[in-house]
This record gives sequence, C-alpha cells and structure tokens, in this order.
Amino acid sequence: MAKHLARSEKRPLKAEKQNIRRERRAKESDAGERGLAILSSIENARWLPVILPALLLIAAALLPLEGWMRPTAYAIPALIAYAPVLLACVSSVREKQFFSNEILTFAAGVLLFACGLYPESVLLAVLFGAAGLMESFLHNDSRKAMDAVLSMMPDKAFVIGEEGPEPRAPQDVMPGEILLVSAGERIPLDGVIVEGITTVDTAAVSGQRSPWAVNEGYRVYSGCMNLTSDIKVRVTKPFDQSTACSICRIMQEAESFSSEQELQARRFNSFYVLGVVALAVLTGLVFPLFKGGWLSHLCRAAALLIAARPAADAFAIPLAYRKGLAISAGNGVFSKGEDCFEAMARSETVVFDKTGTITEGRFTVTDVVPVNMSEHQLLTIAAAAESYSRHAVAQAIREAAGELDKRLLHIIKVQETPGKGVSAFVGERQIYVGNAEFLYEHGIKCAVPARPGTAAHVALDGKYCGHILMTDKVRRRAFDALEGLRVNGVDKLVLLTGDVLSAARPLASKLNFDMLRAELKPEDKAKAVDYLMQNKGDRSCVSFVGDGENDGKIMALADVGIAMGVLGSDAALAAADVLIMDRDIMKVPRTVALSRMIYLVSQQNMVGGAASGLVLVLFGLLGVFSPLAVEIMSFLLTAAVLINTLRIRSDGR
Ligand code: ADP
Ligand code: MG
Repeated sequence: MAKHLARSEKRPLKAEKQNIRRERRAKESDAGERGLAILSSIENARWLPVILPALLLIAAALLPLEGWMRPTAYAIPALIAYAPVLLACVSSVREKQFFSNEILTFAAGVLLFACGLYPESVLLAVLFGAAGLMESFLHNDSRKAMDAVLSMMPDKAFVIGEEGPEPRAPQDVMPGEILLVSAGERIPLDGVIVEGITTVDTAAVSGQRSPWAVNEGYRVYSGCMNLTSDIKVRVTKPFDQSTACSICRIMQEAESFSSEQELQARRFNSFYVLGVVALAVLTGLVFPLFKGGWLSHLCRAAALLIAARPAADAFAIPLAYRKGLAISAGNGVFSKGEDCFEAMARSETVVFDKTGTITEGRFTVTDVVPVNMSEHQLLTIAAAAESYSRHAVAQAIREAAGELDKRLLHIIKVQETPGKGVSAFVGERQIYVGNAEFLYEHGIKCAVPARPGTAAHVALDGKYCGHILMTDKVRRRAFDALEGLRVNGVDKLVLLTGDVLSAARPLASKLNFDMLRAELKPEDKAKAVDYLMQNKGDRSCVSFVGDGENDGKIMALADVGIAMGVLGSDAALAAADVLIMDRDIMKVPRTVALSRMIYLVSQQNMVGGAASGLVLVLFGLLGVFSPLAVEIMSFLLTAAVLINTLRIRSDGR
C-alpha cells in the first residue's frame, strides 16, 4: 500500500516487504510455475496458433462449404487457435482464477461455435492471440531492458590463491580475500584496490558512462567495468551485501509492490467481471426460458463475455509500471516499489536536504580563525577529532590539515552527534568540533564569525580555540533541476538544513525555494517533514531528497525518500525508496517526469478502457453490436491501450 493513502496505511517497511515477497514466492512456486513451464515451452512458437488459424479461416471463408463441411472446416483452425487458450485456462483454474481472460474467451468461443457462428468463434481466438502477442512483445521489451541491468550480476570471481588466480563462485568469496580483475572484466565484488592503476566505468550501476581513474586505496563496486588494466582488489563485503547483488534484489522485489492504480483497477475488475458474467448468464440462460429465442440470446451472452476482459491487465497498468522500472533502472535510478512512481507522480511538495543534494557536499576551507594558537595547530586539532567522520565538513577539515601523524590516530576516541559535530579524546585531551549550538551545549561560548559561511567551531579541554570557515558549491544545474520539478507539477520546494542561516539564505533565494528552515537538528528536520505530511492535500504526496547518510528517519517519514549519490553508501541503500546511484541532480526531475508519464498513461488507459468496456457491455446486452463487432472493438481497445503505453519514454515526455 502506498504511503500517500493515509498516514496509517503506509508503504510496508523494508522488513515487511521482504516477508511479503517470501510468502508470495512460496505460493507462486508450485501451481503457477508448472503452468508457466508449459506456457514457456510453447512461447517460442506463440505466433503459430495465431497465423495458422487466421490463414485457415480465410481459406474456409473463401471455400463454398455446405452442410456438415462448414463446422468441420472451421473446427480445425478453432482447435489450433484455442489450444493455447485451453492450456492457459488450466493454469488459471489451478491458481483459482475462475474469471481469467482465457476462461472468458474460451467460454465465449464455445458459445459462438455452438450457435453456429463458426468464423466469429475462430476469429475471437485469433484476435485474442494477436493481442497477447502484442502484449508479450511489450513485456519482452521491458524484460530485455531489465535483463541488461541484471546482467551486472557476476557469475565468477578470480581469487588469488597459493597457485595463482582460481575461478570461484562469487558467493564463496569471503571478505579479506584478494581478487584479480582483468582489464575488460566486470568487478565481481565490492572492495578496495590493493595493486594497480586503472579506469573504472560505473555505467551499469549509475546509468551514465563515467570512466573514473582509480588506484591503490580506492573503493570499487561490483557491477562496474574495469576498463584499462588488471587490478588486485581486497574484498570488503560478502556477495549478498555487494552493490550489484543489492541492486538486483531491489529490482526483483520492486515488481511485487503494486501501484495504487493497479489495485484500483483490480477492485474495479472484481465487480465488473462478476457483474458482466452474471448479466451473460441472465441473458443467455434465464431470459430465453421465458421469452424463447435461445440462439440470439446465447449470442448476446457470448458478446458480453468477450466484453468482460479483466481490467488491470487489459488497461496495461502493470505493463506501464514495469516499463517505468526498466527505463529508470537503465538510467541508474532504482526504485524499491512500483508504488514509488505513483507517489512521485503525485508529489506536490519536494523537500531537499541542502548538503550533498542541492550543494556538492564538498566544502572548501576559506578562513581559519584561531584563538591563542596558530592556524596549523587549530586545523590539526580539528582534523584529529574528525579522523573518522564521513561528514562533508570533516572531509574538508582533514584535507586542509594535510597528513596527520599516524601515531595520533591510535589514541583517538570519538563520538559523533549527527547534525551537530564530534567530540573526541586524543589521549587525555578533549576536543569538540561542531556548530555553535553544539559547543554551547557543552558550556563553551563561540565567537560569531565575521564572514558568512559554514563554521566549524573548535574547543580544546573546554576552552574555545577558534573556528574554521568553509563554503560549499551549489550543484551545477541545481536551478534547472528545480525548474524541471516545477514544470512537472511540484508547487512547493522546501530547503531544510542543519547549516547556519547565513549560508543557506542566499542559496534558497537564488534558487527560488518556497520555504527555508535552517539550523535544524536531524529531529527538527523530521518534524518539519512530518508537518508537511500532515498538511498536504488528500491526493498529493511529499518527496524528500537527501544523501541518505543520517536522514533515514526522514526518508521513512516522507511518502518517497529519494537518495542521491547512493553508490558506496550502505545507509542510503537501506533507507531510501528511490536510489539515484550517482550525484546527477537532473535525475530527480527526470524521474518525476517519468513517474508522471506512467501515472498519466495508466490513468488514460484505465478511464478510457473502463468507459469503452462499459459501452461495449451495454451495446452487447441490447444486441446493438453483433459478437463479431464486439470482438473487433475489444481487440482495437486492447491495441489502443498498448499503443498508448508505448508512449512512455525515458525523458517522460
Ligand atoms: P545538512 O543539513 O546541511 O545536511 P547536517 O545536518 O549534516 O547538515 O549538519 C548540520 C551542521 O552540523 C553542519 O552544517 C555542521 O556545522 C555541523 N556538523 C555536523 N556534523 C559535523 C561534523 N562531523 N563536524 C563538524 N561539524 C558538523
Ligand atoms: Mg545532510
């Protein structure tokens, strides 16, 4: 269920999702798979039961047949055309779907044949087969795109043993083992380069060709290609936690979380099909008991059965969402459920966490303002305390301080407070590095920086010893990305940050944000998103875009949590609903545009399909349309729905 339905009916949590998936698999594995096995064995020759009976039908129609010759001549193409329908009927009965498309078509076909409408009966199966072919062509298209993504999954790894490299299944490789990855091969497991210099292409994972020079000490990810020369990689994660495996798992799970539109179509379907079948029984079996005219009434009943195509599939809604999953995966955007697209399509509010999304998250130190010590001393103290932090502020301080004495690193005890700073013991000496509020909480008064920017204040043994000022660059195309969101129906853009107002305000006004909240602790950010969730419209959604590092709680709170720069971040991989592997901010509006396209196409298919279906039923009931006319119109309707679905393209236009 989608989070946007009601606050109590949120999307299932990740653990719940996995349980649902397991149960579904267990159910599907028996009955379904046997049916599918039979179907897939005739998959390759699927066109045969369409073309052959169509030709035989034309031949039979052209021949001057009389008496018993007529039914016999039409029985041959009918048998060929209905054989796969009958097989599919068997598997739907096994799955307890008694009103499946195939069963309704088969029943209508038998009725038509019994009424002496032989060509109509054959044509029904031929058109049904043709519609199935068109649909499976589209399915294969998405399947192929998906398979291309899933092909990043490695099948073997060369582990360096005592007698040189030996091939092994990636599942059997343990963290700590050394792999040889030759030039031109895919990296099988996540790890760190221990020998060699090469260029790595992350295209399979991030959706964009981005050759990237790496050498000793760099982290590399499974699924990426090693382009130029052989490298040795020390494995850091077991196979099932590696990037390629996680992505493939997410992609496979995503399909089992249906969109609300699909659920709506299914609900409509359960009433619609039952109603039409009841009408068909009344028309074909009950009316003639009183009024006579069996033949014409049975024909009308057949027409009704043809009109009663189950809705969700007929409207191609699952197809549209699956296509969306495949397209966005090809662009390096992985979604944890089909319902995420729907929530993104309905997003009227998009909230950005500033650092790492709107800005590059790469600070550069502009000023060092020490108190009673040298600039170098201040930087060294701060860098020692920040030795283990992954925060962008910490990285900037470490870079500015340069190489630290390695002995220092052994005596550090650190505690990091998200959204505030770090406190550390270096030997006996206590250091605080963080924002003014963080130091104030520890009873230390900070100086007000003379220039705007993000300040990391530093205290040693309870005494203030200065601050380090830094700036972050706005992402190139951030403005275009926000405009892109507005074009796609987002009417409220919100910027949240833990950074100081003086750093955030110029940015917010330059980029036209509608709302800015600065100097927030992570829990304040969660409160702000919660407030927006409480005050949104019934059908609208709130999306949150962050880096997924320390905003997992907010991601879970919003209708959709979108994380940028997920490659290499386990926290982001676990927390977000939509994963943008690289840091291309334009992928946010592009994914929203794609989601809107999927939503719109599904809505058109559903409304158009349902309205035309009801008209067909009405006219079939009144006997205005012959079974032949209903057959042809029902086929044209399916074709129109499928062609409309073809409009879904990667740019969402
Ligand atoms: P943002 O909202 O911009 O993503 P955070 O919530 O991560 O920022 O952090 C808010 C502020 O807390 C930062 O601007 C910084 O001043 C301070 N801060 C957070 N972590 C650290 C750290 N490791 N070292 C120093 N300062 C930090
Ligand atoms: Mg942040």
